[in-house]
Amino acid sequence: MFTTLRLATYASLLTLGGLASSASAANLKVVASFSIIADFAKNVGGDRVEISTLVPVDGDAHVYEPRPADAAALERADVVLVNGLQFEGFMSRLVETSGTKAPVVEVSKGIEPLKTAEEEHAHHEGEEHAKAEEHVNASDDHGHEGHHHHGEFDPHAWQSIHNARIYVKNIADAFCQADKAGCATYTANSEAYRAKLGELETEVKAAIDTIPQDKRTIITSHDAFGYFEHDYGLKFIAPEGVSTEAEASAADVARLVDQVKEDKASAIFVESITNPRLVDQIASETGLKVGGTLYSDALSSQEGPASTYIDMFRYNVNTIKAAILGS
Ligand code: ZN
Repeated sequence: MFTTLRLATYASLLTLGGLASSASAANLKVVASFSIIADFAKNVGGDRVEISTLVPVDGDAHVYEPRPADAAALERADVVLVNGLQFEGFMSRLVETSGTKAPVVEVSKGIEPLKTAEEEHAHHEGEEHAKAEEHVNASDDHGHEGHHHHGEFDPHAWQSIHNARIYVKNIADAFCQADKAGCATYTANSEAYRAKLGELETEVKAAIDTIPQDKRTIITSHDAFGYFEHDYGLKFIAPEGVSTEAEASAADVARLVDQVKEDKASAIFVESITNPRLVDQIASETGLKVGGTLYSDALSSQEGPASTYIDMFRYNVNTIKAAILGS
């Protein structure tokens, strides 16, 4: 009797295994350019989607070098999700070499993009800007290393939860297009997750409200929190621009150290995706203590404190609050 039962259990396990694998073969194959979009896609797609992520957790999309497996994933994909706003510099060539027929969907579509700080800076310093332009025009071959054409807009739009809700809606629309049978599920999942994001935003605003106005300037390594600043009223300054491609110069760092003294910055943070060396240097020159790690452009691994978008946002806000208020 005992043996028969055991056999029956094995048989049902085998059947379940068989069902699971045939179901996954029918799933919508999704490629997400980086971990934050992959998390949104998982929340919208649930069991109906199979997601491959190109830039891994803790990875830096600004300087990512695709692997051969990435082209293979694109080739198999039904839908490709990218941020757009020139965040994924590696993407257009990868799409081309993979020969994928899948739609490449820019999930930031419909957000109100912010101009990059470099653009604003250029307006103030007309002379320097003119010189830079001359320099770019002088090398018309476009093959020159070191001439990075940064986008006009800051790509880190997901650092506004309001924008994240637009991303999620765009993902649901893309999934509905690619898999009409699943549309009701995608729409329901998307609405439920967007409601959670709404609650998260209320929580974030309440947390920032507890920080005194004169303590709201903080330093991070690269300029990834422009949308956070715009929506939630903290001021972020950074030695590096919106991309991590170009290293900060000694003059940039010196200017930032002066700025810290003028603005009375309350805290300084390293970012998970960038080398902490520069932030450590600024910390020692200004006497500020490093307040922890912020997650800007990538989630952490499952074991880390920021393995989902919602956890990332909470962790960042709590880390900032704790460093400024000392609690
Ligand atoms: Zn970035």
